[in-house]
Amino acid sequence: MKNEQIPQGHQGQCCPHGQGKGGHGHGGGRGHGAGHGQGCGHGHGHGEHCGRHGHGAQGHPGGHPGGHPEDKNPLRLLFWELTSGCNLRCIHCRAVAQPERVEGELSTQECFSIIDNLVTFANPILVLTGGEPLYRPDFFDIAAYANSKGLRVAMATNGTLVTGENAKKIKDVGIQRVSISLDGATAETHDAFRGIPGSFEAALRGFENLKKQGLSVQFNTTVAKHNLHEIKDILKLAVEKGADALHIFMLVPVGCGVEIADEQMVSAETYEELLHWFYEESKRVPIELKATCAPHYHRVMRQRAKEEGITLTFQSHGLAAVTKGCLAGSGVAFLSSKGKVQPCGYLPVTAGDIHEQSLQEIWEKSEAFLALREPDNLKGKCGVCEFRKVCEGCRARAFAQTGDYLGEEPYCAYKPRKYVQD
Ligand code: SF4
Ligand code: SF4
Repeated sequence: MKNEQIPQGHQGQCCPHGQGKGGHGHGGGRGHGAGHGQGCGHGHGHGEHCGRHGHGAQGHPGGHPGGHPEDKNPLRLLFWELTSGCNLRCIHCRAVAQPERVEGELSTQECFSIIDNLVTFANPILVLTGGEPLYRPDFFDIAAYANSKGLRVAMATNGTLVTGENAKKIKDVGIQRVSISLDGATAETHDAFRGIPGSFEAALRGFENLKKQGLSVQFNTTVAKHNLHEIKDILKLAVEKGADALHIFMLVPVGCGVEIADEQMVSAETYEELLHWFYEESKRVPIELKATCAPHYHRVMRQRAKEEGITLTFQSHGLAAVTKGCLAGSGVAFLSSKGKVQPCGYLPVTAGDIHEQSLQEIWEKSEAFLALREPDNLKGKCGVCEFRKVCEGCRARAFAQTGDYLGEEPYCAYKPRKYVQD
């Protein structure tokens, strides 16, 4: 398929993964991760950042991850959709974003109470997302409050509302990493997906405004057929612009993504090629590269390392070497603008409602979360896969395809050794 061709990887002078601008931090991990999502919103970054509080980033050897040391499953990242309102009309939007904020969104005081509860049981990175988080007039109050309570705060934005003034406020309230969604290397491609002409230029202006403030900024790209041919140029642009990282996401058929799935999902085989290309590039480019919500990248990394006779370590390959693919429900949770808690923003399974239970109770007791924490619960080929503990497959894509979030990942080309197809 011509439109499924991806660029070939380059060999050459390398910068070890993650040791570029996203570089390692001492006493606490490296880089940040600020999510994004389809549309902009929820993000995954499965990010990690500086050890301001002396905690290790997730899985970082020597540091304890987001929660308390005794926690088996600490909440490492909380993606918080502050609003489903957004000024763009992305055709792949997870949140089915609205031009206005909708009724029923959590009040400022409710947001503060959630933060109060959160810090009693966990120390996650809090990624403030939307919709477009800057649509909330109290966005900066919420971010500042979270920061004052010791949380590490990141945000995911489409970038278009990041004026010079907003960039300064973002810095002043202590946000440590910002992700901007970039779905093309050209205005034509990006704007077509984002639904509004001029959004490419506006996103890049937002990026520059953040950089002028000295903030750490990453680009997030949702890869689908429409931009696969530009992925090499997107990476080039990210490096040229001085981004700290490029995180790629694979389209998940949820929200508006359902309608474009048939047309836009890349095949499992192309996906595989892309991940191998990404692995090559991760050794070459001077910025942090992360394949997020592409859990089988964790398999690919291990397969490639074995072929190359090397051992994956945090020092050599960054955080991806010491964490696993899908963290939905086991290290990551998503809180919707109306207070519903899900394993991740792409997996529309309600684990609890903040109006009925505390976040802590939901995190510790929800049936869905407990089920997702045990890789042996997985079914189909993921259930017998020798990589299931480091990969787990995308639970949201499994759910979209089969209606069962423990089902097999439909976009993985790998055939586990023990897998016998019916
Ligand atoms: S289910 Fe897992 S891999 Fe899939 S989108 Fe959610 S966190 Fe990412
Ligand atoms: S079969 Fe499932 S667990 Fe194994 S690599 Fe593929 S997605 Fe991951």
